[in-house]
Amino acid sequence: IMDDLTQLPGVGPTTAEKLKEAGYTDFMKIATASIGELTEIDGISEKAAARIIEAARELCNLGFKSGTEVLSQRKNIWKLSTGSKNLDEILGGGLESQSVTEFAGMFGSGKTQIAHQACVNLQCPERIVADDAIKDEILNEPKAVYIDTEGTFRPERIVQMAEALGLDGNEVLNNIFVARAYNSDMQMLYAENVENLIREGHNIKLVIVDSLTSTFRTEYIGRGKLAERQQKLGRHMATLNKLADIYNCVVIVTNQVAARPDALFGPSEQAIGGHIVGHAATFRIFLRKAKGDKRVAKLYDSPHLPDAEAMFRITEKGIHD
Ligand code: ADP
Ligand code: MG
Repeated sequence: IMDDLTQLPGVGPTTAEKLKEAGYTDFMKIATASIGELTEIDGISEKAAARIIEAARELCNLGFKSGTEVLSQRKNIWKLSTGSKNLDEILGGGLESQSVTEFAGMFGSGKTQIAHQACVNLQCPERIVADDAIKDEILNEPKAVYIDTEGTFRPERIVQMAEALGLDGNEVLNNIFVARAYNSDMQMLYAENVENLIREGHNIKLVIVDSLTSTFRTEYIGRGKLAERQQKLGRHMATLNKLADIYNCVVIVTNQVAARPDALFGPSEQAIGGHIVGHAATFRIFLRKAKGDKRVAKLYDSPHLPDAEAMFRITEKGIHD
């Protein structure tokens, strides 16, 4: 979907066309561009770029908000259960909307299972905690977007988890948009396109990127590529944060961990993506395997919750205590 860019100051049909050719098809893309990016387009001066960006930001409702406005937006926050009461508790009640939650852990630690369970729980009203004022909106055919970069989305597993809750597996599947991303550009594009689904009338309330970092990790190898990788990852996280904020969605990203051979202090493993992901995710959870089907989740670095651990299990029923 394209916006009418000629609504922007100083933008006539010719400039609008140039903007579109450069990929700036809607107000949001312009609102989040930098002046330097827009001046690369023929005929746009620095002054014009600044005016265009500011107008686009106003049209998108970006910019400063009063504390009261922020408080009233935060009143709409709702929570989605993970399926485990223990895990919900350390999260302050469940996966929080208007935030990005990161699950990091080694292979097999349960990241993909948590993501699958979240899609199922979205269809289960008892697993959604919301004030009466917004509950109807959340429960109005909520849909999930699952951006799958590793090819590990399994509809059969969704059906299995759904049936364990007495839900119709096919109905749950019908409410999940799955997109397989084979590289980081596809991944970023899918995230940007979630907005189109919303504008088409789909009530997207959950967005999952599983995994956030694997494509970036394989494409940007070596020290020389690190800056570029971090910049793109930062942009991707910004897109996800915007979706969470503007559309009151729950956003989950999964992340691999790497060994820290140089670790003198702290953990010997670290989530990929460094401070870029760290700052952009509000809730960060580290998962590790314990005995049998048990897993330990550790919440860390949260701005308003204490570091805490919770034990949960992964069985054929899904995620539970
Ligand atoms: P990752 O962190 O790599 O994404 P997963 O979320 O894929 O890990 O977790 C895989 C683990 O989940 C398996 O090792 C297994 O213990 C458990 N698991 C997956 N599917 C099932 C199932 N149908 N029944 C029971 N346990 C399962
Ligand atoms: Mg996985």
